Amino acid sequence: MEFDSTTFPLRPAWAEIDLGKLRRNVQLIRRDLPARVRLLAVVKDEAYGHGALDVARVAVEEGAWGFGLSTLEEAMALRDAGITAPLLLLGERQEAELSWCVAHNLTVCVNEEHTVRALAKIASGFGKQVSVHLKVHTGMSRYGVRWDQALPLIELICSEKSLQLEGVMTHFSQSDETDKSFANLQFARFNEVLQDLAARGVSVKLRHTCNSGGFLDLPHAHLDMVRVGILMYGVFPSSVCRRIPGIKPVMSVKARIAAIQHLKAGEVVGYGMRYTAPGERRIAVLPIGYGDGFPRVRNQGGALIRGQRAPLIGGIAMDALMVDITDIPEAQMWDEAVLMGCQGDEQITVHDLAKLKNSVSYDVLTNWRLRLRRKSVNGTTTNEHKLTRMETAPA
Ligand SMILES: *Cc1c(COP(=O)(O)O)cnc(C)c1O
Repeated sequence: MEFDSTTFPLRPAWAEIDLGKLRRNVQLIRRDLPARVRLLAVVKDEAYGHGALDVARVAVEEGAWGFGLSTLEEAMALRDAGITAPLLLLGERQEAELSWCVAHNLTVCVNEEHTVRALAKIASGFGKQVSVHLKVHTGMSRYGVRWDQALPLIELICSEKSLQLEGVMTHFSQSDETDKSFANLQFARFNEVLQDLAARGVSVKLRHTCNSGGFLDLPHAHLDMVRVGILMYGVFPSSVCRRIPGIKPVMSVKARIAAIQHLKAGEVVGYGMRYTAPGERRIAVLPIGYGDGFPRVRNQGGALIRGQRAPLIGGIAMDALMVDITDIPEAQMWDEAVLMGCQGDEQITVHDLAKLKNSVSYDVLTNWRLRLRRKSVNGTTTNEHKLTRMETAPA
């Protein structure tokens, strides 16, 4: 008996990442965009929990120009794995990060004077001219220089020979709701900055404003590039935004039945005895809980087993939850249950889970914890490599 990774008995709970669906989604997004508009694939937070390296490899093959990331660690993990495409670090950098960014050709968003000066100095020390993207705040009040105060910063960037103003960007506070009035106000403010740039004869290669919602619903704001995250993973940012037929969720969450219990009328289930059996019940225990990122619910939601809905009963525990399988008599030990995704004709969507925790789809996707192993399917990259934070397990 060998005790190595090929014989390791994998936990009967996992997140399945369908790289074939991801590839199709990126193709559909690419096809929906005019050819001149670049696609920045947003892969921050391990590609919203899908595994940044697998996603990056597929997206590069399907024509993504580069990647949007949040932290230096995320960017370095892709560089270390051999991704050479442009990596744009969204947000603000600490000064200590700047030399790493210059050394590894990471593109920094700049928001204020101090960072511009520090970055310019480091770049010239390296004998490099580095690309930067100016982030303009047009109403979101997060990162970025105010739209009506951007000019001095633009002039400073242009005066630094070791910097090249490759991009100028803003971010919408609300792009996926029916009411686009605030997004349009933000876009008008952004255009004032673009006019100032043009008046000074500064040409910027990449002007970009749109996330998934903007990409879908604000075609006049596409400009030179769109920054798409959630839609690539097959999840529409809201129920009212435009639909692209064929876009499918990439991640499913599954577990196998690890115990079956038979209850008599009046018996209770789980911590706090939140469920009392009204009659004889047959219940299944699934070895997945809030410690894996499932919303901490009681008597709400459920799982799909043998193509049917099994309602969740009692309160969910850290490592287990119970579902009622009385009406699924064919269900057996180690049957596969779907907690997010499709089985037969039934589906539990990311939005269904978001509703259970009073939150949004982004929160559900990024909350699946890393102890829930990611299993890539329908891809060529499965098991070729180890992710830094997640192991791609054998199929
Ligand atoms: C996360 C992020 C995006 C991607 O947003 P989605 O709604 O997932 O498409 C785009 N731009 C910025 C600045 C971001 O932080």
